[in-house]
This record gives sequence, C-alpha cells and structure tokens, in this order.
Amino acid sequence: MRQILLITGGVIAAIAFVIGIFTFNQVNKEEAALTARIQVRSQVLAESLVESIQPAFEAGATSSIKRTIDKFVGDQRLSGLAVFDNTGTVILSSDNSPDVIDAELLAAVMGRGEPDGGFARNESGLLYVSVVPIIGENQETIGALASIQSADYIDATIGSIWRDNIIRFLLQTMLIAAAIFALARWVFFKPLYDLAESMRAARRGEAVDDDKIGGDLLLPLSSEIAKMTGSLRQARHAASQEARMRLEKIDTPWTAERLKEFIKAYVKDRPIFVVSNGEPYVNTRGKSGIEWTVPAGGLVTALEPVMEATGGMWIAHGAGEADKAVVDKDDKVRVPHDEPRYILKRVWLTDEEVAGYYNGFSNEALWPLCHMAHVRPVFRKEDWTEYRKANALFAKTLLKEIQGVERPLVFVQDYHLALVPGIIKKSRPDAQVAIFWHIPWPSAAQFSICPWREEILHGMMGADIIGFQTQQYCNNFIDTVASEIEARIDLEHFSIFREEHQTFVKPFPISIAFPGIAEREEKADPALLSRLGIHSTHVALGVDRLDYTKGIPERLKGIEFFFERHPEFIGHLTLLQIASPTRTSVGTYKKHADAVLAEVERINARFGTRDWKPIVFQHRSFSHAELRTLYRLSSMCLITSLHDGMNLVAKEYAAARGDESGVLILSQFAGASRSMKGALQINPYSAEETAEAIFKAASMPKTEQHRRMKALRTSVRDYNVYRWSAEIIKALAELD
Ligand code: UDP
Repeated sequence: MRQILLITGGVIAAIAFVIGIFTFNQVNKEEAALTARIQVRSQVLAESLVESIQPAFEAGATSSIKRTIDKFVGDQRLSGLAVFDNTGTVILSSDNSPDVIDAELLAAVMGRGEPDGGFARNESGLLYVSVVPIIGENQETIGALASIQSADYIDATIGSIWRDNIIRFLLQTMLIAAAIFALARWVFFKPLYDLAESMRAARRGEAVDDDKIGGDLLLPLSSEIAKMTGSLRQARHAASQEARMRLEKIDTPWTAERLKEFIKAYVKDRPIFVVSNGEPYVNTRGKSGIEWTVPAGGLVTALEPVMEATGGMWIAHGAGEADKAVVDKDDKVRVPHDEPRYILKRVWLTDEEVAGYYNGFSNEALWPLCHMAHVRPVFRKEDWTEYRKANALFAKTLLKEIQGVERPLVFVQDYHLALVPGIIKKSRPDAQVAIFWHIPWPSAAQFSICPWREEILHGMMGADIIGFQTQQYCNNFIDTVASEIEARIDLEHFSIFREEHQTFVKPFPISIAFPGIAEREEKADPALLSRLGIHSTHVALGVDRLDYTKGIPERLKGIEFFFERHPEFIGHLTLLQIASPTRTSVGTYKKHADAVLAEVERINARFGTRDWKPIVFQHRSFSHAELRTLYRLSSMCLITSLHDGMNLVAKEYAAARGDESGVLILSQFAGASRSMKGALQINPYSAEETAEAIFKAASMPKTEQHRRMKALRTSVRDYNVYRWSAEIIKALAELD
C-alpha cells in the first residue's frame, strides 16, 4: 500500500510540474496578445479623437472639446479621457475620469512627441492608459490626450486560464491516481502477492498451481520460481521418503537430531500443541534468584526435540512457586530458558481445583482404578466436578491458541486430561488429536465400577489416536468400549467408529534416551555407596516413587524371605531402596509411607548386625546422575511393581550398564516386561519367587549376566524415547 501511494504521489508531482509549466507559458502568451490588442485599440481611438479636437484645442474652444470627449467616452465605453496643455496641466476631463495618469508617462510622450501607454490599477480594477501628443500647426507639441480604458478582462482571462488548468490538473490527477492504483494493485502487486503466497505454500509443502504463480507480468520470474518450487517439492519428498525409510530401519539408532529431522520431513511446518498436567520446566525461587528445573520423567526428553523441530506450544499447569513471575501477560514463557525454542503456556489452577482435579479425581480415583494394586478408588462427586472444570480449562486454553491454525496437531498427555480430546474435537473437528495414556488400562470389569465411565470414554474417543504402553492395555480398552458404550469396533485395524468418527487404538511403549558414548564412559564413583553406609559385596537396588503400585512392601517381604532361605548372604547383600516422596497430601500415600518405614525397621532389627543393615532406606529424591552411578555400582535392580504402565527405571538400569553386567529382576506386571526379555521375571506377590530371583542374581555367572544384559540393552536401544515420539507423531500426521 505504501509503495502504491509513493508511486501515485510521484506521478502526480510530475503531472503538476508539466501542467504548471504549460499554464505559465499559455498565460504569458495570452497576456502579451491581450496587452498588444489593448495598446493598439487605445492608441487608435486616442489618435482619432486628437484629430477631431485638434482645431478646437488650438482655438481654445474648451466647451466644444468637452462635449466631444463626453460623447466619445459614452460611445467607446471608456473609463475616462483627459486633455492636457503643454505644461502637463489638465485642461479638461470627462466626467468621473479616474485620476491614474502617470506624470512621467505624460512628460515622456510630450517630450518625444510620440504616443505611449501603460497599465494602472485603482479600486475598480486594471486600467490601460494611452497618451497621445497633440501637435500644433508648427509641428510642436501643444498638449496631450490620455484615454483610460478598463483592462479587467485581461485579469479575468488570465484567471480563467489558471482556473481551467487547475481543474484539468485535478481531474487528471484523480483519473491517473485511480488508474495507477488499480494497475499497481491488480497488474503488479496482485501477481507479486500471489507469487509470495505460492512460495509460502511451497515452503509449507502444499501443492502449488504453477499456472497461477505470478501471472503474465512476472512470467520470466514465475517460471523460474515454478521450477524452484518444483525442486523444493521434490527435495522435500525425497527427504520425507528418506526419513520414512530410516524410521523403518531399526539398525540406525534414534537420536534427538534424527527425530527433529524426521518430524520436519513428516509434519513439515505444522506446529504441534502438547497439553499435559505436568510442565516441562518449573520455576522456583533459589539463592541466586529465580531458578528452573526439569522434572524427572522421560516426557520432556521425548517431546523436546519434537517441539524444537516444529516450534510448537506446550500447555501445562503452572505449579512452580515462581512460575507466575516469569510469564508474559498471556501466561507464556519461551523455553528452554537458556536457549528458547518453543513456547510454554501455563494454566493456573486454584488450590481447590488442584485438590479436586489432581489429588482427588486423578490420583484417588483414576490412578487406583487403572492400577490393579488392590487400593480402592475413591469416587467423590465434587472431585469429578473439579476434574471436568479443569479439563474444560485446559481445552479452552488450547482452543484459543489453535484459532486460525489449520489442521493443528494436538498431543494430549495422560489420565489427568481424559476429557480434553472430546472438547477439542467438538469445536475443531479439523484438529488431529492424539492422547497417550501413560498408566495401565484395566480390565472392562474393573473399569465398570467408575460412576462416570461413559463420559471418560467419550472424552478420550474425541481423539483420533489413543496410545497405550502395551497391546494388552489396548485390548482392555477395546473390551471396555465394547461393554460400556454404543460403538462399532473394527478389530482388523484396532479402531472404534462412533458418530462417524474413527479412533485408532495403538500401543506405543514409552522409553528413555539411550545414553551417548560420553555418558557410557563416565566412571561410577563407589564413594557414593560408602556415603550411604553400604560396604556389602552385593547391592540390590530399588528406585521408585513411594507409591503403593510399586510393590515396595512385597519387595521387603521378598528380601526377608531371601535372608531366611539364604542366611549365608547376611552381612554380604544390602537392599538400597530409594523411595522418592510422592503425592504426600493424599491420605493413602501417607499411610503407605508409614507402613513401609515400619517394615524396614522391623526387617533391619531382625537381621541387622552392628556394622551392616539388610535395608538402607533413602526417603528422598536422587538426581539422574546419582542414579546412573548407583545403577552401575549395584549387582541387581529390583522392580516389583504390582501394576505399572511401563517402568522406566528398568530401562534406565539396562542403559546404564555399558559393562553388560548386573541383573534386572522385573515384575511381570510392569509394561516393561513385554519387551525386556533378558530380565528375571517375577510375580511380586510371591515372596518366594522374589527371594529366588535375588539369589539367582547374586550367584549368576558373568557370562549369563552379559548375555541377558546385552539383550536388555538392545531392546532399549532399538526402541528409545525418540522412536516413541516419532511413531506417535507419524501415526497422527498420517491420518490425512
Ligand atoms: N527418579 C528420579 N529420582 C528418584 C526416583 C526416581 O529421577 O529419586 C526418576 C527415575 O529415574 C525415572 C522416573 O523417576 O526416570 C520414574 O519413572 P517410572 O516409569 O519408573 O515410574 P513412575 O514414577 O513414572 O511411575
């Protein structure tokens, strides 16, 4: 628009200049012609009058002269006439003759004896004064006659020339401006705009109609650009094909970089919106001001490369004490804080909402409902109300952000947000939505006790893809849908049809980032064990949140049984149990923690010696670096979950064992047991089985340890967390 105005302004200035010059010229010429005409006419009139009054003038017959000049003034419509004697004194003048005769002009005419004239101006306007000498019989100047004539028409003519030209200029300006505007807009800028739009579309990887690029005006340019967009399309296609092929090739490891490249090729420039309860970055107040931390768990590792590749947005509950201090007016902050690549948008919840939605319905109802750990779910109506409110708030926040985004890719996380997919799909049927359920899905019979089961299922089925950790959970979900709501189930594609919407149910076992070479070569410092007071030959390691699903009391029973059965290990084997505090405001968890601590004390009292304890219990969180050291220093890792979606500790243990030693004892009820075939699998409810596995691990020859650990490591390396992300995003983007 600015360019159009500039061009139009420039053209108008040029026209104004040309018209101005021409008008000036025309005015000068017209003025000269009119002046010459009035000069001649006045002089001729004056001379003819002089001729007729000359005898009377010489005879001094003033009254006769007066009559003649008055009649002459009337006949010739003159403004006045005056007769002078040879001294320049007025002898006679017509009635009302204006007093405008210049004495110098008069003197000059009489001196030279030749007529002359000039313009004068008074209140009535422009006048022309013509002075003619009166020559006596002796050829001497005896007087002069001045005729005064109105020259107003000269002013009027010049004025009308200027006026006409100004009007012509204005009309031309308007016409030319309109023409330039239309030409610039439709002939020049429109093709340019179309060209830019085509290039943008080509960049987004969308199909471009080559005929429409640029129009005739920009034909040479547009044909070049058409070739370029064609090459770009081919390059994209090739890159995407290559990335797809590489995805299938399981012998090349998945890395953050490969995932980024894959996502770019697969989803092109479409942004991804992640919605989760937990946030990827938490801000707290520390000694040196506001600090940030990444909460434990693999989700950030898995999704950060995806967000970085597409520059998307992550919407999460801002639960950190300083979260509010770092966001802008739209509650957004760019993260990672040290190298911002995507936007974290925080959702604020009141204490009441957190109590009902998070602690209440999520953790006291859905968590025990989905985990078969024999803890009764608590279904409170008021918790359900808060859960629905919080889900609606997350969905509303997302809907606002995807306004104007075509076919947004939405990835919802976990059981806290089961209703979000349904709300999104209702307002934005074009959105492609996936939800990943990180915890187990129970049997249809177990789920049927939930009073709001139908709403939950409807909410989840707003998604196009529902992901679970294992095929078993997918089967359970399909069974649940079949027994709870009206829907058509397509077992061939593992999908559900409801109200003309198809939801695919697929397993995507979550994993960890397999460590790089540098991490693998890190030395494990045994001082960490000494600091914990452990000097035994064998260390059995347990790493869990202090959650009743993790089977810690069962593990303790197993170790007790082990020492009963194998007293030769007393003093030589220690169970190091790391129990990171969790959900401490939920009553069941407090009771569970107390029961576990009491059990630890009881067993330690039963078998402990002066310088050895069978169980070293650490009721605190350890960093990932500390855990890596402990994984490497322990002879076995003990996982006895009663029910567990996946269990990442199992995978972390295998990944940390670059020496291919150590034994993994793994509950058959953890999702990880599906793929981790090198583990000693146990039923944690059997203290005997657990004790036997501990014994087998403590006495396992190195060769068998290597064989098993190699298999475990291969399974984690092949299906790491980057591949998990790639598989889900691929499934989502492929829905087109
Ligand atoms: N974790 C940690 N510090 C601790 C205890 C656990 O960082 O003190 C991490 C552990 O490394 C793992 C995650 O917490 O990455 C636990 O994941 P898992 O799937 O085993 O269990 P969840 O807690 O998700 O049920």
